[in-house]
Amino acid sequence: MRRDMLHLNNKLALLLLISISFITHPVSAEQPTISIIIDDIGYRHQDDLMSLTLPGPVAYAILPHAPHTKKMAQLASIRNKEILLHQPMQAMEKNEYLGPGALTLNMSQEEFLQTLNINISAVENLIGINNHMGSLLTRHPGHMQWLMETMKSNGQFYVDSLTSDDSVASRLAKENNIPYLTRDVFLDNKLDEKYIRAQFMELVKVAKRKGSALGIGHPHAATTAVLSKVLKDVQKYGVKFISLKSLIKKKANGKHYVKGPETDTVGM
Ligand SMILES: [Zn+2]
Repeated sequence: MRRDMLHLNNKLALLLLISISFITHPVSAEQPTISIIIDDIGYRHQDDLMSLTLPGPVAYAILPHAPHTKKMAQLASIRNKEILLHQPMQAMEKNEYLGPGALTLNMSQEEFLQTLNINISAVENLIGINNHMGSLLTRHPGHMQWLMETMKSNGQFYVDSLTSDDSVASRLAKENNIPYLTRDVFLDNKLDEKYIRAQFMELVKVAKRKGSALGIGHPHAATTAVLSKVLKDVQKYGVKFISLKSLIKKKANGKHYVKGPETDTVGM
């Protein structure tokens, strides 16, 4: 009899807990969401490996001809992470950091498309493209149109890292009916854990204001340290962490269909 009472009490306590958690974490279509991309993968082996251990649907943007391009794409695939080609594009300055496979303004259409297609085949299982640098090239509609046509025929989506306020990439993606996303917050412009944490909170704030927010970071040790902590228990911040594909669906209200399964629940 006593044992039965205890059992009943436990059951009641559990029910109470469940209802409280529903009150504090309402699950609805309107819940603000965050999504995160880690750029510049391929050069720093140890840092890249650490970054790939981040929990949840983190997407990885891999540079096309780096020493560890192939290995990192394979590891990301094994962990069911979304993969982007991190396409180097000519910037207004510091073009010494572009690396191999860059798209530049002086290229003919033929050179441009050849370079782009070689890059696309260098990164296995990519589902989209985002720009590495590109503050000059992303302002030029002619070249960006060549990019969009290639992406359209491949069924890929575009993420505008927004390295220039004058980028025409999102407008062209829209005109070409290509799913696209735009970066809201850069997480680690300063390599300081306090700063990165504050940028993560900014991402959460933007998500609560706009309904969703996309952050971009890099495989720096400080970034990985902060993200591994906050992403482990992301519900605590009142947001849901979703993949890029899910974000595209959410933003387009189901209008754009992106191929392949959802990856929100894998790689956690
Ligand atoms: Zn980059």
